[in-house]
Amino acid sequence: MKDKNAQLVAAREKLVQQMPDPSTILPGSLLSRMVRCNKPGCRFCAKGTGEGHGPIWILSVSLGNRQVRQVPIPGEMKKEVETSLRAFAQMQKLLKQIAGVNLDLLKERKRRQ
Ligand SMILES: [Zn+2]
Repeated sequence: MKDKNAQLVAAREKLVQQMPDPSTILPGSLLSRMVRCNKPGCRFCAKGTGEGHGPIWILSVSLGNRQVRQVPIPGEMKKEVETSLRAFAQMQKLLKQIAGVNLDLLKERKRRQ
């Protein structure tokens, strides 16, 4: 079926066009954490009632072998990091979809031989 082939190529092209700019991507996930200053009398850190200071933001990246790299992220960089994390996730999702379409295209080509 020639139509099927053309449909798959068109679907793949659509996916390729949705690819984010790879130069922006970042791995990992963003965590927030409250921190304690341990200064006597600090109302933010008071036992029972204080919640600590923050939140501070940490980019947590798994390096494999149970190793994790944690990079503190200044508040003014949080939005940019979130966008880069989304771009990476989007890229991975699209790559899987494109690979899936290519697999179907391979089957189509074999069928037509
Ligand atoms: Zn404190």
